Amino acid sequence: MLYGSISHWRRELTTGNISPSELVQELARVTAEKNPHINAYISYNPEAALAAAAKADISLPLGGIPIAIKDNICMQGEPTRCASQMLHNFISPYDATAVTKLRAAGAIPFGRANMDEFAMGSAGENSSYGHTENPAAPGHAPGGSSSGSAAAVAAGMAIAALGSDTGGSIRQPASHCGIVGLKPTYGRISRYGLVAFASSLDQIGPITQNVEDAAILLNAMCGHDAKDSTSSTHGTEDFTAKIGQSIAGVRIGLPKEYLSSGNSPEVTAAIELAVAKLTELGAEIVEISLPHSEAVVSAYYIIACAEASSNLSRFDGIRYGYRAENTNGLDDLYSRSRAEGFGPEVKRRIILGTYVLSSGFYDAYYAKAQKVRALVAKDFAEAFEKVDFILGPVAPTAAPLLHDKTMSPLQVYLADIYTIPANLAGLPGISIPTPQNGGLPIGIQLLGNHFAEADLLRVASALETSLA
Ligand code: GLN
Repeated sequence: MLYGSISHWRRELTTGNISPSELVQELARVTAEKNPHINAYISYNPEAALAAAAKADISLPLGGIPIAIKDNICMQGEPTRCASQMLHNFISPYDATAVTKLRAAGAIPFGRANMDEFAMGSAGENSSYGHTENPAAPGHAPGGSSSGSAAAVAAGMAIAALGSDTGGSIRQPASHCGIVGLKPTYGRISRYGLVAFASSLDQIGPITQNVEDAAILLNAMCGHDAKDSTSSTHGTEDFTAKIGQSIAGVRIGLPKEYLSSGNSPEVTAAIELAVAKLTELGAEIVEISLPHSEAVVSAYYIIACAEASSNLSRFDGIRYGYRAENTNGLDDLYSRSRAEGFGPEVKRRIILGTYVLSSGFYDAYYAKAQKVRALVAKDFAEAFEKVDFILGPVAPTAAPLLHDKTMSPLQVYLADIYTIPANLAGLPGISIPTPQNGGLPIGIQLLGNHFAEADLLRVASALETSLA
């Protein structure tokens, strides 16, 4: 098994207890054994990983560490399918900047992690390559859309993974699988080579065994990139530097809107436990209000679908990807390629997004959602005048059962209520596991102000240690 943090495996590698090639071989062995059941990887390439391991420079910060990469983040020479039939035959001609940077830090990209198709979903069940099992809660969904990334880490089939988070897809699967997920500030990590879902919300981030590992991966991937005009020029720092420092005097806001009776009793108990631990650590808990919380789900699904309908228009059966056969003219080729290549959830969102952008409805839906987005950002700006961080649930409940047909798409969307705000406001957020005590994994979430990752990770690590 490959449980153990990046620091653990780095020690094993640098002391010579294991070589990079042996580590990759062990990973390939574990994956061959477990993946047929868990389906965390759509594909993996042990030969390419072994070739990289043979050349690995173990003096680098991630030297010799194999990492799972979500199937919507380009890896040169490997398929990038976004778990869709639309891209079933697409091979990335280049690496995403995040992957280039990981390689430069010595990491070994290992396999293509399963996901909800085009990152649309919350349970990993919208993949056209089969669903993913939750290694920490058999029979339950692993969460989504970074289902395979979280399952790979939770099952010891990767030491760490990359996910993408548009409305919670890093934090929510991490929560459901009992591990750590960090969505950095919008623009902190380049989106170059991340297949766009909703460009104003998408952000790449780490899914890891612990908070320190998230900081180590953020160190390797952050920074401005000329290839992504939305990547930030904000200064970077060593995100591990403050881990282990005291959090006495830190003010933590608890939004009253996040303590809803719609939360399961286990989620409420997890928040109460976190409040008790943070208080013991010397933090001050302050009740706050985020008054527009009620409107975030509607605003998000309008904006995300609108952007998706535009971004996904490039998949037309002409340039690359799936093309329908025996078509009758150009219009038929477009419409049949898209009808056959996309799965039902993707089609639902393209239709919804096209509708909210259409003239006559634009002002009523899209323009209004943008106003709500501005109000949500204002709520946070005001809150961060009073507090340093915000504590809340990741999701209202633990992982639902797999193949749960009792929830309508709308009910599934509503469960994103606590993760969406960070995307609408561009803020960093982290999901930290609470003790499982025989029950299902439940994560709690800490949100920080823009670019406050170093301190967010300090508080998250202190809380993680006190919960262990
Ligand atoms: N569950 C959300 C959705 O389906 C989040 C997706 C994401 O963050 N990629 O849109």
